Amino acid sequence: SKGRIYNFSAGPAMLPVDVLEQAQKDMLNWNGSGMGVMEMSHRGKEFVSIAKAAEADLRTLLKIPENYKVLFMQGGATTQFAAIPFNLTTPEDTIDFVETGAWSTKAIKEAKKYCKVNVAATSKAENFTHIPEESNWTLTPGGKLVHICYNETIGGVEFKDIPRCADDVTLVADMSSDFLSKPVDVSKFGMIYAGAQKNVGPAGVTIVIIREDLIGKARADCPAMFDYKLAADNDSMYNTPPCYGIYICGLVFKKLLSIGGLEKVEEYNLKKCALIYDAIDGSEGFYKAPVAKNCRSCMNIPFTMASKELETEFFAEAAKRNMVQLAGHKSVGGIRVSVYNAMPMEGAEAIAQLMQELLARSK
Ligand code: PMP
Repeated sequence: SKGRIYNFSAGPAMLPVDVLEQAQKDMLNWNGSGMGVMEMSHRGKEFVSIAKAAEADLRTLLKIPENYKVLFMQGGATTQFAAIPFNLTTPEDTIDFVETGAWSTKAIKEAKKYCKVNVAATSKAENFTHIPEESNWTLTPGGKLVHICYNETIGGVEFKDIPRCADDVTLVADMSSDFLSKPVDVSKFGMIYAGAQKNVGPAGVTIVIIREDLIGKARADCPAMFDYKLAADNDSMYNTPPCYGIYICGLVFKKLLSIGGLEKVEEYNLKKCALIYDAIDGSEGFYKAPVAKNCRSCMNIPFTMASKELETEFFAEAAKRNMVQLAGHKSVGGIRVSVYNAMPMEGAEAIAQLMQELLARSK
């Protein structure tokens, strides 16, 4: 509709059309206030009401327990790679990392600057195509913190269950690329964080959900902008927050609630990704998905074809049908289909249809 295309980007990615239309309507004059959201003081009653509603709706969506804080921060998930050690460790403490892909690797590299790191398990030798079996993780004896990347955006590897160690340690999860794509039991995590630009809003907003007892232990030299206590004590407004981004996230939260919450969102997402995985699995190797079936991502679906020429033809044929941003990450090549919440079923159907047609053409 209205000249829009199916954008399979890994992020920033599509947003729901009705959210964009609402934003368009509000652009010059939000709710009769005579000003747009970008022009509002973050201390004014209008924006404060927007921020409060966004937090309340997110709490409802994810059923966030009372003893957790919701923080709207800045700097992307990458900033959290440093903020986590500053807030949750001393330089002598160890974070146990499970390395399941490129984003885990980046988090490890950053944490190493500020605390000790133990890579408790890694699938690097297998090109990050599976999640190491938890019974083989070598967690630090007496260690308190375990970091996982819930969905590896580049490799397409997703946790389907919360690790059992969550009962004994503080589990910290980077959920940037599957946040709000399915229900999650927040109470099993010490902290969940996510950049907004895949499922929930514009780049810049970074959501942190953290159990209260973990807050207030930041190092003395922790930069103010990283400090969870400062953020929590100031309702995420220690400085000027990314107001417009928070507003858009709020509209997305309302939208997800209106369609029936995260159970419904997951149901829809499972159907979408099944269309594509079925096309891969039914292709007798014409399309090859590298990831082990028990941890295939529902959001990011990487696969390859037998040659670069075939993949180039795939992209060209897709572009003719208004489907774009299908190239795999430059580090891995191939094809990657990202189907975040806002990708409509028709988009997933169209790409699956294309896959079937190219397969038929090859025979
Ligand atoms: N973690 C994951 C899983 C990601 O997908 C990304 C971004 N693609 C990041 C972290 C980094 O996020 P940002 O660019 O918001 O810093």
